Amino acid sequence: MPLRLYNTLGRTLEEFIPLVPKKAGFYGCGPTVYNYAHIGNLRAYVTHDILVRTLRERGFQVTHVMNITDVGHLSGDNDFGEDKMVKSAEERGKSVLEIAGFYTRAFFDDTARMNIIRPGVVCRATEHIDDMIGLIKRIEANGYTYTAGGNLYFDISRFDHYGDLALLRVEDLKAGARTDLDENKRNPGDFVLWFTKSKFENQALVWDSPWGRGYPGWHIECSAMSIRYLGEQFDIHAGGIDHVPIHHTNEIAQSEAATGKHPWVRYWVHNEFLVLDKGKMSKSAGGFLTLQSLIDAGYDPLDYRYFLIGGHYRSQLRFSWDSLESAKNSRKSLREKFRSLAVSARPGEPAAGSSVLERLGAFHGALDDDLSTPRALSELWGLLRDNTVTPGEALWTALQMDRVLGLGLENDLAADKGREENPEIEEQIARRAAAKAAGDFALADAIRGGLREKGIILEDGKSGTAWRRI
Ligand code: AMP
Ligand code: ZN
Repeated sequence: MPLRLYNTLGRTLEEFIPLVPKKAGFYGCGPTVYNYAHIGNLRAYVTHDILVRTLRERGFQVTHVMNITDVGHLSGDNDFGEDKMVKSAEERGKSVLEIAGFYTRAFFDDTARMNIIRPGVVCRATEHIDDMIGLIKRIEANGYTYTAGGNLYFDISRFDHYGDLALLRVEDLKAGARTDLDENKRNPGDFVLWFTKSKFENQALVWDSPWGRGYPGWHIECSAMSIRYLGEQFDIHAGGIDHVPIHHTNEIAQSEAATGKHPWVRYWVHNEFLVLDKGKMSKSAGGFLTLQSLIDAGYDPLDYRYFLIGGHYRSQLRFSWDSLESAKNSRKSLREKFRSLAVSARPGEPAAGSSVLERLGAFHGALDDDLSTPRALSELWGLLRDNTVTPGEALWTALQMDRVLGLGLENDLAADKGREENPEIEEQIARRAAAKAAGDFALADAIRGGLREKGIILEDGKSGTAWRRI
């Protein structure tokens, strides 16, 4: 079965066919780094991680690009309000770049603890201002901009495909004009490409540009950096569902206005939100849950990963401590099952035609079906509960599955390796097996008893004898 993804552009499930065979260019919107990532943000990055791992398992060579928004992401989507970076720096008595560096490190600490593979390309907005200016110049040269009140705007009425992604109609946007605060805009959907003036005076980071000294609008960084690293057209772009109507809609307008190439991106993948009982979680509103707050409450980051993959990325997921607790317990049972197999066997590749390969096929089939992690997880459970599978084959297959799920099962295997590699005990086990084979059960029992006195327990399993310390 081919890999199929739900494409927000067109709202259908589509077979993934890359622009270049066997390669996949993937851009996932990265974090704004004026504060810690909240657990909702981490849902977006686990989704990207599952997508990348699935593509790799399917044999695609993936270039994964993630931006770090360390400049100019304002608190409102209407390009006004206070700069979150400046506000955060002021509150903490640090420079803007110190704040950005601190929270970027915190972000990658969090993602590493959740077994999220670090993207091959991580790019900072502040280090790509020239790319942004270059792209804005092309947009301007193609006639899509106007200047008003000192800022350079994108004129959405000039762009035919505006709103295709979000199924917006430019006429409707005009009708909503009364709600917009920026009087410079010809159309409320227009957005700033380059600011030289804004409502807040103390913008910390500014650069020279053809439009005056200032700083870029929020959306342009993603267009400029994705094009820089993935080319003028690429395969997949992802982000949270909140980005559909504004951020991604504007990214498409900018990129296609600059290059004239359509479609800029073939597949748009959006994760639904993680919600709290109390409602939406917001980075700018504060008072949100971080990964550290889950750890402080006694949970492992992988308990949270387990909780997330228990839901499908396109369904809203409600966070509660009770559901995290049940994810923790399930992961514990899963590891116990896995470790009990690891005690008695080493992973062994199944022979061709083995029924366990069918289960592995079903596992991959679930992921191929728009990344259905809940079904994939239940295939892993089915495998571990299946008594007809030998422990070695079950271990091997579970590890294959975990290459995508990322629950760190290989560490549970490593935890048992130390025991297997103790030659003295292995030799005693071999002597006991020989004694049993020769019918000398007294000797076999004596060997077992001798080891027991040293605190070593022997466990006879289907594929031999394992040992563990009391
Ligand atoms: P931000 O750092 O605020 O730009 O957000 C980073 C990513 O997290 C973006 O892809 C957002 O769409 C996504 N996101 C924000 N809040 C949530 C949430 N509650 N649940 C899932 N994804 C979210
Ligand atoms: Zn973006």
